[in-house]
Amino acid sequence: MSTTVVAIDGPAGAGKSSVAKAIARKLGFTHVNTGSLYRAVAYALRCAGASLDPVDKKDLEKIKLEYTGSGLLLNGSDPGEALRTPESAAGASLVAKQIAVREFLLEVQRRSADNRWIVMEGRDIGTVIFPDAAVKIFLTASAFERARRRMEQGEVPAGATLEEVQKEIEKRDLQDSTRAVAPLKAADDAVLVDSSELSLDETVDAICAIVAEKRKCER
Ligand code: C5P
Repeated sequence: MSTTVVAIDGPAGAGKSSVAKAIARKLGFTHVNTGSLYRAVAYALRCAGASLDPVDKKDLEKIKLEYTGSGLLLNGSDPGEALRTPESAAGASLVAKQIAVREFLLEVQRRSADNRWIVMEGRDIGTVIFPDAAVKIFLTASAFERARRRMEQGEVPAGATLEEVQKEIEKRDLQDSTRAVAPLKAADDAVLVDSSELSLDETVDAICAIVAEKRKCER
């Protein structure tokens, strides 16, 4: 049986977070951003003065992560903006390639579904975490368009050019898609949505239509 999960995977900067958040709001589902989990692990390890690469399993066991209806709790409290810093992003990439971390977070992610409808975004949701997700979307956009959006949102180092941001995005794509553990790739049964020429609303509408069709078929 397919789970009550809408899985949205795709490369960095494809707009997964904005799209997943909007879909969750529109359909009344819970939004789970799995990038935050990797960021939270990196942040917690750094705060504890522990090693990020390699991560020690004993240090992982001290981290308590929980997805409630209102968001992520790290050791019982909201980590807030601490996860959005460049250090947390860089730390997330470091810990994300380690099998011990992925195994630890696999359970956290599966638990968060808990028989309610969720929109879960990440890199391996449709392939590894919920291979039986009700809906699988692979959301992408050209590297140029993703770099352009990053620039527009100001999420780039001061003085960076569009060309440099695009190169950085291409580098991260390569890292994410060629790593040995859970590489970024579309599930065989995922629907590919290319948002290069779509607005946020158009992307959300396109995915909501896919979800509606799927739920109609399952009734
Ligand atoms: O999506 P976000 O930028 O917050 O992700 C931070 C890092 O965590 C990414 O660089 C990615 O490599 C990793 N990640 C992952 N699997 C996920 C979500 C994020 O490997 N499901």
